[in-house]
Amino acid sequence: MTDLEFRKEVLDKLSPSFCAAKWYNATIWLGSGQTTSCHHPPAHLVDPDQVRTNPRLLHNTDQKKQDRAKMLAGERPAGCEYCWKIEDMGMDAVSDRVYKSKIYPIEALHDAFNTLPNTDVNLRTLEIAFDRTCQFACSYCNPAFSTTWANDIRRNGPYQNLVSDGRNHFTHTHDSAQLFKITESNPYIDAFFAWWETDLHRTLMELRITGGEPLMSAHTWRLIDWFRSNQGKSHTRLAINSNLGTEVDIDRLLASTHGMAIDLYTSNEAISTQAEYIRDGLVWDDWANNVERLLDSGQFRGIHVMCTINALCLSTLDQLLECIMNWKLEYGKDAISFTLNILRFPSFQSPLVLPDAQRRVYRQRLITWLAHWADSEFIQEHEVNHTQRLIDYLDVVKTPHSDAFEMPKLLNDFRQFYTQYDQRRGKNFIKTFPELKEWYNSL
Ligand code: SF4
Repeated sequence: MTDLEFRKEVLDKLSPSFCAAKWYNATIWLGSGQTTSCHHPPAHLVDPDQVRTNPRLLHNTDQKKQDRAKMLAGERPAGCEYCWKIEDMGMDAVSDRVYKSKIYPIEALHDAFNTLPNTDVNLRTLEIAFDRTCQFACSYCNPAFSTTWANDIRRNGPYQNLVSDGRNHFTHTHDSAQLFKITESNPYIDAFFAWWETDLHRTLMELRITGGEPLMSAHTWRLIDWFRSNQGKSHTRLAINSNLGTEVDIDRLLASTHGMAIDLYTSNEAISTQAEYIRDGLVWDDWANNVERLLDSGQFRGIHVMCTINALCLSTLDQLLECIMNWKLEYGKDAISFTLNILRFPSFQSPLVLPDAQRRVYRQRLITWLAHWADSEFIQEHEVNHTQRLIDYLDVVKTPHSDAFEMPKLLNDFRQFYTQYDQRRGKNFIKTFPELKEWYNSL
């Protein structure tokens, strides 16, 4: 069944706004007590008192129950506007509502549809963050997701003179992202483990732990230990995000996950000093060694490198991809894979701020790289598609600069941000990206 057929024959026959993610999927930030049903609707707060007596309310919030009632009645919840905009483009438009529903069995969709909207449903797919503890402070991250970023703001004050950052990512410590001290008991984390022990370990198809750096959180190790001591009790597919930095305890990870076949997701989009500049805290050699240790162990279902495509990674992205292909040649096509996710925020770090001539140079490098690998049996279909999508994105004709009003603001912020980033982090933009020196000095 094609995606469009699925929309028309399955989803729309239940209701023209039905989406199974509202019942079966969630992201829950246990540090801030926020949840959302997918990454599009704005996150909202979970009641900390209610989850003490009913941990299922971590997901089954009043907000989601109201949204479900609307979907059952064929009405559109406002928070899902991302999908409605796409569907309003035409009768045949396929939005994320399709992709987020298709992953579940059709009977499960009927079960959800026939359940009263205020029923507390058990999740099938879940992404959780226990806290924002992280030893990195990457340029495109912010204090909401990293204690090191929060410490930078605490120590050096807010970034000054940024005019395009309407969300104020770099001007305060985002204390609402961590409502409880690490040493305090957190009702959201208690509720998660209570729900995990009773129901979730049976119903979840997939659990992905994100952060911060999850492997620096004691709660992640507690969960891994649960899997180890309860082998065979849960069929949940476990996935862990990790920056695989120097401080991550790889020995403990290998020993604790032996025989578990988990997926490990790690972020990087450049090599060497350029990678270390973008992802402050990373030591390139240690990251690459850690990836090799995990590959050598052969005990992971897959290592997935998530590349966040920003203006600065393009100088060495092709070399990172080459490195990944060499690992594939050594360890197998599916042992390691990559995705290229184009950064949208903060928008002044987007590749679209680069001068046209430089974009053409970077684009040509990727064209050359893809021409070499496109027919290889070691590259996956989505990897070819992601690379081609980025090549198209870098085409100055297909994706022009932001509008004339926005561009000066973005260029101002690019210069302002990296000047202050250099001072705070002891880095040197011009030395790291010499090919951008003239342009950078002109900003
Ligand atoms: S309708 Fe769209 S935005 Fe809403 S939960 Fe489903 S996939 Fe997410």
